[in-house]
Amino acid sequence: MAGNSRKVVVIGGGIAGLSAAIYAQKCGYQAEILEMHDMAGGLAMSWRRNDYTFETCLHWLYGSNPSSPMHALWSEVFDINQLTFLDPEVFQRLESPEGRALTIYTDTDRLEAELLIHAPQDRVEIRRMINSVRKLKRFTMPDPAASWPARCLTTLRDAPCLPLLRRLARICSSDYGQRFSAPLLRAFFGGGEVGELSAIALLISLAWMGMRDAGYAVGGSQAMIRLAEQKLTALGGKIRFRAKAERILTKDGAAVGVLLAGGETVDADWVISAADGHTTFYDLLGGGYTPDWAKRIYSQWETFPSYLQVSLGVGLELKDQPPLLTLLLRSSIDVDPGTTLRQLAFRFFHYDPTFAPVGKTAVTSFLPTRNFEYWTGLRCRDLNQYRAEKRRVAEAVTGVLENRLPKVRGAIEVVDVSTPASVVRYTGNWKGSMEGWLLTPRTGFRPLPSSLPGLRRFLMVGQWIMPGGGLPSGPMTARPAIKAMCKEDGLRFTPR
Ligand SMILES: Cc1cc2nc3c(=O)[nH]c(=O)nc-3n(C[C@H](O)[C@H](O)[C@H](O)COP(=O)(O)OP(=O)(O)OC[C@H]3O[C@@H](n4cnc5c(N)ncnc54)[C@H](O)[C@@H]3O)c2cc1C
Repeated sequence: MAGNSRKVVVIGGGIAGLSAAIYAQKCGYQAEILEMHDMAGGLAMSWRRNDYTFETCLHWLYGSNPSSPMHALWSEVFDINQLTFLDPEVFQRLESPEGRALTIYTDTDRLEAELLIHAPQDRVEIRRMINSVRKLKRFTMPDPAASWPARCLTTLRDAPCLPLLRRLARICSSDYGQRFSAPLLRAFFGGGEVGELSAIALLISLAWMGMRDAGYAVGGSQAMIRLAEQKLTALGGKIRFRAKAERILTKDGAAVGVLLAGGETVDADWVISAADGHTTFYDLLGGGYTPDWAKRIYSQWETFPSYLQVSLGVGLELKDQPPLLTLLLRSSIDVDPGTTLRQLAFRFFHYDPTFAPVGKTAVTSFLPTRNFEYWTGLRCRDLNQYRAEKRRVAEAVTGVLENRLPKVRGAIEVVDVSTPASVVRYTGNWKGSMEGWLLTPRTGFRPLPSSLPGLRRFLMVGQWIMPGGGLPSGPMTARPAIKAMCKEDGLRFTPR
């Protein structure tokens, strides 16, 4: 069979599915994405309400710096130079109910100075932490698809960082925060669900921000998704919307196509699942190809939480606010049975002119929860009560913002609430998870296998095979998967 006649069907049009289809198309395959939603992006999503666009995903993108290796990887899947990146001076400001404040600067020297002024009693640990951030700036993420000499070179270069990485990977963020006595510094590391993350995740983010390699792309996540979609179609690839995969069809131990909801069958030489991992194993493959390692991690590993997002369209400029404001609360907020928040963060998108007209600001608040079943169940059982619960949470969140910023009172023009039920409905992610597997001391960094024993011509890509998830997990898992596919078919891998 000629190389260019082989058909690859990709389930899911998030960043991972788009990346896989683009690499496949570049290597001479005919790629078609089946996406159940009516637009591409998956979790990389924003929505419009009246004058306002509310972003859910993009806060920073690793690889925004043109000199970074991740930037080169992004260039393979879309023209990243068409994006405008902003590198804010302030990452986050935390405030206590007593009026104390701590600013987390993106510049490492400035951050060190601020922390030492804020918490001189913690100076030994602050210096230790800042030294770790400086050291992590020298760390290069290994590219699993690079040639072995290139990988050896990266490992050699990374060698001085490895003991530190190992140490930080073994401790979760909230335990790391206990090293400090200042409550706001502890809150930065240990607030809510982020506390379960491995400490390395937060420190490496600070390192990337300090290198201006984790900028914000104007237009948010959909700006990059649109560029990836354009790249795919320019290469001759296809994406079909409202095409929900119900079953991966197999014959003689190989994937041969996909059965869509509605009964249509799509034949394929290769099937790639870029959809949620749990759905892939237990629904699309019917549980028949789940290896022991997958059974173990799907019953034991922790996922990133689900979340509600309260989005507000505010008829004010709010440029005097930091991009991200975290308020430690005097009285906690009950989100749902089992979820009580003692701190609340607000993101002021005044830095993105595409999200609101001049003089107005899109503001979002992210409320993590693990009780996704409460929201999916309620929506199913009683739509009126579901809406009432959304209003209750929105009022609580709005009240906190108005307390802190009385000028907002009366200027709120739009209120929008999404819940874990929305995440499940629009992306299919297991438990409404925002990012797949939580990077914890238990998971480590290593990606999970993309192929399955006993099932040929099938691959998995995306956040569910890379603990820690994030947008980079798209190309980082798709590239080696397509390289392996080319090898099996005796084709040259041509990613550029
Ligand atoms: C609140 C929030 C903040 C975040 N912040 C950042 C950030 O600042 N930086 C960053 O890098 N990352 C961030 N992320 C994480 C990032 O968005 C995800 O890790 C990434 O988008 C996952 O991409 P994916 O393609 O692997 O999966 P998904 O985006 O989940 O894509 C899966 C796709 O498969 C489709 N699908 C599922 N089942 C089927 C089916 N049966 N048939 C057809 N289609 C199907 C879905 O509709 C979806 O489009 C954030 C995420 C959230 C929610």
